Amino acid sequence: MKIVMCASEVVPFAKTGGLADVAGALPVALEKLQQDVIIVMPGYKKTHELKSPAIKQLKEGVSWAQIGKGIKVYLIDRKDYFDRDGLYGDKTGDFPDNLDRFSFFCRRTLELLKEIDFKPDIIHCHDWQSGLVPVYLKTTYKNDPFFKNTRTIFTIHNIGYQGLFKKEEFPRLGLDWSVFSVDKLEYYDKINILKGGIVFSDLINTVSDAYSREIQTKEFGFGMEGILNQRKADVSGIINGLDYGIWDPALDKQIFNQFSVKEIEGKYENKSGLQKMVGLPEKRTVPLFGIVSRLAEQKGFDILAEGIDEICKMDLQLVILGTGDAKYHELLEKMVKKYPKVISLSLKFDDALAHRIYAGSDIFLMPSKYEPCGLGQMISLKYGTIPLVFKTGGLADTVNEKNGFVFDVYSKAELIKTIKKAISAFKAKAGWSKLVTAAMKCNFSWAESAKKYVELYGKAKAKS
Ligand code: ADP
Repeated sequence: MKIVMCASEVVPFAKTGGLADVAGALPVALEKLQQDVIIVMPGYKKTHELKSPAIKQLKEGVSWAQIGKGIKVYLIDRKDYFDRDGLYGDKTGDFPDNLDRFSFFCRRTLELLKEIDFKPDIIHCHDWQSGLVPVYLKTTYKNDPFFKNTRTIFTIHNIGYQGLFKKEEFPRLGLDWSVFSVDKLEYYDKINILKGGIVFSDLINTVSDAYSREIQTKEFGFGMEGILNQRKADVSGIINGLDYGIWDPALDKQIFNQFSVKEIEGKYENKSGLQKMVGLPEKRTVPLFGIVSRLAEQKGFDILAEGIDEICKMDLQLVILGTGDAKYHELLEKMVKKYPKVISLSLKFDDALAHRIYAGSDIFLMPSKYEPCGLGQMISLKYGTIPLVFKTGGLADTVNEKNGFVFDVYSKAELIKTIKKAISAFKAKAGWSKLVTAAMKCNFSWAESAKKYVELYGKAKAKS
């Protein structure tokens, strides 16, 4: 099949979050399954500053590079839109011309496909920034023979981000006002681009099975539950894969000591190395809990904050790496002062330290309130660090009592109870190594998920 991956960020060209990992890794996995894939993304300032892979100009306003064996990555260049620091905004907030920037990106993508004569079977769009591709295809390009056999898939990576704009901006999209209706792009008198992607694409999916069901409920749908319910039969979930080329304790050069499921003992040098590095007492018998996360309510920091004092009184150590809401920064800093032998805190983004925390901790704390997929738990499993999670979204799909600790009522009390349970299990050594082995044997490689995407593309292709 001929597939176009259309995304606003793609590893290694630009990244702010998990979407970039997916848009960079999935095409490579699809290529291995003999699919003919190209990628189209904006050419940001950061992208053009990259030394490798080499970027060449194709024509005025379009550059290209290559990843995988032969995947062409086309960059839509426009200095006034994309040649700036930041992808979507800066310190003061979102860029005010984001509607113009990303509607241009979507239209230009479709024109480019004609110019390079790449007649796609599937255009796979991700999040609101590419949500106008299906809209234009079914309106402006409705009768264009070039796209006669093209179908669209729209993947929602986090339904909390919808691309909302003022109604007054609508004429700039070049669409008929009939598209600004309650069953199309209109949402409480605003333009909602994500809604456009949902309504106009042939199939919709999210990054885990559980999240695909959750977003159809009032609690998790962020207002999109109604429209998703109407398209129930077209909504599904495929769990993201993990790039084991980057995340493998047997190959990881950033950790203190490489190890694998065959010699788990090697993990514990990472524990003492980490304890030493972050200034905690080097004790093997005390369970070391790790957190690598955005410090945000979505990640469970409201219940963690409520329980932190109680948690610090338990027989454990806690190493935290993250940045986020100022209120959590302040609270955690206070806790470090109060319990310096229990908590270590690093308020920064630090990839090397993240690797060391995944490798050196015994338990990975990730009690997210909602989690479309989540990478932290998959990484920690590979490193034999047992995840402790709330049963939601991708966490529910990847962690269970055989490889981790799960609680299913979102409250401080349940979190504390589960932490106590994890501590007891850690201390009852016998079962622990079994748990670590089971965790390390879990496999969330892209190979499996890419096969599911090929099936999904086939299903879209079969749609009339
Ligand atoms: P998110 O919702 O933030 O995308 P995920 O679990 O899907 O959450 O992915 C987060 C990724 O970012 C993980 O690879 C995690 O290790 C990494 N990460 C998060 N915070 C930090 C940090 N402060 N330093 C280094 N890596 C981080």
